[in-house]
Amino acid sequence: MSYDVAIVGGGPVGLFLACELRLHGVRTVVLERRTEIDQTIKAGGVTGRGADILARRNVVDLLGDLPDAGLMRPRPVGDGSVPGAARSKAPVVGHFAGLWILRGGAHSGGARSGGAPLLVPQQVLESALEKHATEVGAVVRRGHALTRLDQDDHGVVLTVEGPEGPYELRAGWLVGCDGGRSAIRKMTGIAFPGLDGVTTGYQALAEFDDPDFFPFGWHRTAHGMMARGPLRERVLTVEFDGPPVDRSAPVSREELQASVRRQSGTEVTITTVHTATRFTDNTRQADTYRIGRVLLAGDAAHVHPPFGGQGLALGLGDAVNLGWKLAAEVAGWAPDGLLDTYLTERHPAAARVLHTTRAQVALMAPGPRVDALRDVFAALAETDEANRLLTDLMSDRDLRYEVDVEHRLAGRYCPDLPLTVHGTATSVAALSPSGRPLLLDLDDHTGVRDAVRPWADRIEVVRARSDDAPAAAMLVRPDGYVAWAGEDVGGLREACARWFGAPRE
Ligand SMILES: Cc1cc2nc3c(=O)[nH]c(=O)nc-3n(C[C@H](O)[C@H](O)[C@H](O)COP(=O)(O)OP(=O)(O)OC[C@H]3O[C@@H](n4cnc5c(N)ncnc54)[C@H](O)[C@@H]3O)c2cc1C
Repeated sequence: MSYDVAIVGGGPVGLFLACELRLHGVRTVVLERRTEIDQTIKAGGVTGRGADILARRNVVDLLGDLPDAGLMRPRPVGDGSVPGAARSKAPVVGHFAGLWILRGGAHSGGARSGGAPLLVPQQVLESALEKHATEVGAVVRRGHALTRLDQDDHGVVLTVEGPEGPYELRAGWLVGCDGGRSAIRKMTGIAFPGLDGVTTGYQALAEFDDPDFFPFGWHRTAHGMMARGPLRERVLTVEFDGPPVDRSAPVSREELQASVRRQSGTEVTITTVHTATRFTDNTRQADTYRIGRVLLAGDAAHVHPPFGGQGLALGLGDAVNLGWKLAAEVAGWAPDGLLDTYLTERHPAAARVLHTTRAQVALMAPGPRVDALRDVFAALAETDEANRLLTDLMSDRDLRYEVDVEHRLAGRYCPDLPLTVHGTATSVAALSPSGRPLLLDLDDHTGVRDAVRPWADRIEVVRARSDDAPAAAMLVRPDGYVAWAGEDVGGLREACARWFGAPRE
């Protein structure tokens, strides 16, 4: 059997993209070289818009019981008091460079209240996504590694090393979700410019001979930063002594212990290492996300250090943006240039994340000058306006795509408005799991409904009431962004054609 889309890489981004493609009936295969989910410690949570994306597709319901995000709140912050800061009462939802200053609140506007992150270990997320992708009809092949790639105007031919030897697989499109060292990026010759790392970091779950050897929370040290928590066993160090010599070598207990001892200034002994990983702060981004019928998403397209936990949100954002656009190509109704907007919308989003992680690394460097800078930065960041800007930046909540429509919501993520439909309470998030474009008629506007009728095969029309309607009607893309909003039909047909193709009269 041939497939419409082959995805190489069954990490969180590849698996979520497979789920998105299946919403639109796209025949999808995921090739993953590992036979089992990698249990090495990685992400401990999904922040910002990433959590909203998972909530709007009901994936959150598949993750089981998760700890309260309150666990992330700082124990004593290592920097001590913040001079001149007027602290807001809103709960802390994240950190910037180890400063627990990002506060959620009503402005977060997502499907989850207050901007709280989902505290889900990456492995739990991957397992849920794999099960879900299979249930909705994607084929997930574990133990299958891509070794060669050819493409022509009609599709791609993949050479795959499977458990029973090499074979060829044909597909219309290929998406490389094969991680930061992406073979697909290299095979297609896509450049990956950026900055080399200056740090070596370790993250681990380990047992210590003295469980109280170092306080919980993030702390500055003579060499960089060290953090413990929220789990008792979890430890993270960041040292400004250059990037690792060999990032692929397994992390030994001695190596981890040496870093923990240097950072904590103690002689603590690590008795057991449950899992450990080494990372650096290199920031690189693919200069294009598409060559012909081959696209990149997730870490294959951009890498950055894990501070602030933006990697999953960014990759899930790529997948939710790409899924419906690629499905439109496969179905044959994609308007000219639709797939190009994947690059024009997502490349700047990732560039911004790279930028903020560079700023975090600068604020983490050791030394009295950075101590002073952190104090000034933290004081400024505690003011309401600066805190909102910083929180929105770190959670992607201020992201606005260019949609050429004059309305304050146009191009922005549609807020999770409470709605009443046929007398039943619902919400924008509750209407989103199908991944279909939505025309929300919030003012019983016949003209609006008539205007979209020629797209009835693609756009779902919902007549709803909202006590807090920001417009008479809104056209919401499958990725949750508002393509059009207005009080009458002006510009609505143009927006439908721009995003959802030619009308069927
Ligand atoms: C220490 C650490 C902590 C982190 N903490 C956070 C956090 O708290 N929050 C957060 O949001 N992010 C965090 N991240 C980042 C997050 O883990 C990544 O952004 C995320 O894994 C990217 O997902 P992905 O699917 O793009 O790539 P990956 O997870 O790397 O998946 C790529 C997959 O492709 C497969 N593959 C590669 N080559 C081939 C091939 N040739 N054929 C077949 N399969 C192939 C690999 O086996 C792998 O399964 C952290 C990362 C690290 C290292």
